[in-house]
Amino acid sequence: MRRACSVVLSSLALVAAACERADDGASGAEPGALEDPFALELVELELPAQRGERLVVYLDAGHGAPDNEGNRSSLCELEQDTMHDLALDLGAALEAYGGFVVVPSRTGDELVPYAERVADAERVGADVFLSLHSDVRGQVREWSPEPGLVCRASHDAPGFTVLYSDEGPAELAAARAALCATITGSMRAAGFSAYDGAEYVGLYAPSGPSGCFVDRHAADKRIMVLRRPTMPSVIVETHNALDPREAVAFRDPLVREAFARAIAHALRSLPAQGLSLR
Ligand SMILES: [Zn+2]
Repeated sequence: MRRACSVVLSSLALVAAACERADDGASGAEPGALEDPFALELVELELPAQRGERLVVYLDAGHGAPDNEGNRSSLCELEQDTMHDLALDLGAALEAYGGFVVVPSRTGDELVPYAERVADAERVGADVFLSLHSDVRGQVREWSPEPGLVCRASHDAPGFTVLYSDEGPAELAAARAALCATITGSMRAAGFSAYDGAEYVGLYAPSGPSGCFVDRHAADKRIMVLRRPTMPSVIVETHNALDPREAVAFRDPLVREAFARAIAHALRSLPAQGLSLR
């Protein structure tokens, strides 16, 4: 494992720029409220060797379903667009590392219902169903990322989480829990910090390592991509979209590279743990 200093410097520079703009544009907010220390000290993880056959990853760019565009970030971007873009980069990185066949849930602008995605993952024989999202949480206020643009922002609840379901067959539930724990561990090892789940009470419960949560929505509100796929599935809430520092950082190719390596590290670690994916 070696420290990727360039990632630290680059993301910090971008974050600093975002904080300065927050000061300029925030209407009625306390000056400097977004200047709290915040640093992604990212580490370039060394990937375990590829073992066995290539893993088929169904890579779901969250939202982009009919009447479901997702959140609007602190940069006023739609979640369906940012996740589509992030999934493109992650998919390309996984295939470049080797050992992965990536099947995207949507390409271009077409809307794809979630039930169709679950069926697609089954049809292509996916080993794992990975769904990318961003969260919205924290004390919200208005701010202006650029002149003439007013968005919603918060700075008190950054971090990633990984979500899974313990419904259904015990073996599948255990595989999802292991996937959740492994991705959480790799993301933390890469330097991403986990959200503590303060606003998840009643919706998701902490389970396993810090950052991993199990679905506790009411039965009729549980998340389809967590409970329906027949292969292990998780949602990665990559960051808090309302936190401008994180929203800006996730635009940085070096941060995306660290994220992709963390995901690849986790997926390549699964066979070594004796986890049977199907
Ligand atoms: Zn989402």
